[in-house]
Amino acid sequence: MLSFDPEKIALPAGHYINGQHQAGEGNALQVNRPSDGLPAGQLYEADAQKVDEAVNIADRSVRESGWASCPPRQRGAVLRRWADLIASDTQLAQLESLGSTRPISDVVNHEIPFTAEAIRFYAECADKYSGDVLPTRDASLGMLVPEPYGVIGAITPWNFPLSMASWKCGPALAAGNAVVLKPSELTPFSTVRMAELAVQAGLPAGVLNIVQGGGAVTGSALVAHPLVRKVSFTGSTATGARIMSDAAFNGMKPVTLELGGKSPQLVFDDAGDIDEVAGRILRGFTANGGQACVAGTRLIVQRGIADALLGKLIELCQCFRPGVTWDENSRYAPMIDARQAAKVASVVSSARQQGAEVLVGGERFADTGEGYFWQPTLLSVISNDNPAVQEEIFGPVLTVQIFDDEAEGLALASHPTYGLCAGVHTKNIDRALRAMRGIAAGTVWINRYGRSGDFIIPTGGFHGSGIGKDLGRQAFEACQRYKSVLIDF
Ligand code: NAD
Repeated sequence: MLSFDPEKIALPAGHYINGQHQAGEGNALQVNRPSDGLPAGQLYEADAQKVDEAVNIADRSVRESGWASCPPRQRGAVLRRWADLIASDTQLAQLESLGSTRPISDVVNHEIPFTAEAIRFYAECADKYSGDVLPTRDASLGMLVPEPYGVIGAITPWNFPLSMASWKCGPALAAGNAVVLKPSELTPFSTVRMAELAVQAGLPAGVLNIVQGGGAVTGSALVAHPLVRKVSFTGSTATGARIMSDAAFNGMKPVTLELGGKSPQLVFDDAGDIDEVAGRILRGFTANGGQACVAGTRLIVQRGIADALLGKLIELCQCFRPGVTWDENSRYAPMIDARQAAKVASVVSSARQQGAEVLVGGERFADTGEGYFWQPTLLSVISNDNPAVQEEIFGPVLTVQIFDDEAEGLALASHPTYGLCAGVHTKNIDRALRAMRGIAAGTVWINRYGRSGDFIIPTGGFHGSGIGKDLGRQAFEACQRYKSVLIDF
């Protein structure tokens, strides 16, 4: 029985600093439940002084507790215990489901195992990857010696609060850093519980701290703090640009930026079984109500298969039903809030004004009160300039463009701003590999769409979709700086 009563869940309202809950004070921000728009609770925004307190505690704790200097295997053991606690904590799953867009069955079956496994992956990295011995003259020894940065500032978005936190904290902590993390002000609660479980698992108090608040006050104070030596951010491209600039002007800090996307799904005539391909395309743009950076929201389909594929997709889109996230039978995510729902409505409306035709969906589900559930929507567009093709909508809206030959398909697949992911569907291996080479994206999936549980595969975008990688060995290595050492003997 996974369903629960949202009124009976106690919400951790404040910050989590030095292993203690701190009731907030100051500017209060209202947090609503995406499922029905009712108030979930509130948070108190950390101002620059509160951020300073959290960062100073992190800096002191990571040095004095021995977290940075202990045998890496010891850090791995703590992270493994943390993952076990995450995997079995009912309260964590309920907080995630109540406060975010994720239905409880999805949280329990996917988000929580995914979060715990990411932490386990980095527990294993702690004593597996090191620096390098470099080829030098015979009477010298050249080495590249990794060391932790100290305090890493992490900032996460609202669409996958727990797994995003695990992608930031896992590599940073495994490498011996402290973390001060600011979750999105729209989904602040579950991350606090996650940090509490870390301390229960044996992480020294103060090595992981959570500060609550919006981007302009709390986020920017964290980025600018002189003791924050690196910033790891996931969110929109506009905010990423701002953070990169702030990090440069406040200490020339390195940044990892995981940003937005507008990813193509390129389907050739020889893609194979229509039902299977339609299922992939559908999941690619409807998962989490389309509120995923990797969402495959541009269908570019070859003419010979287009009618059959669109017919199947329209049929599948009509099967979705809205339902509150705390009901175990719900499968479909609401929009995070009224603002996001309005953004989807506005882009769909401008797309129609500029010639797009609605093939299915195109509006909110009726009778869902203040819960903003948007119907899976297919928009047939002729022009590549249509706003629905150009803008990241962050809703379940798939544009459809038809092509005749491979060169035309590849040209449509590229995007002027984004380069996060791409899906290529064909049984012809030569064509698949040509497409893989031809599309500028940080990830190309061939005959699948979406991440697997293979945490060794990093994720990160090209050009407007970001800088650096989350996941994989690369994210662990990016949480260390490298000292060159030359010894003559
Ligand atoms: P957002 O950029 O509005 O906010 C993200 C986070 O940044 C929030 O915690 C916010 O409070 C904070 N923030 C805002 N302004 C800030 C500032 N000036 N300084 C410091 N922090 C600031 O993004 P969002 O709406 O929360 O999330 C949706 C976006 O995230 C989409 O564009 C999506 O594609 C992207 N995303 C990318 C990935 C990826 O891996 N590439 C994953 C998930 C989401």
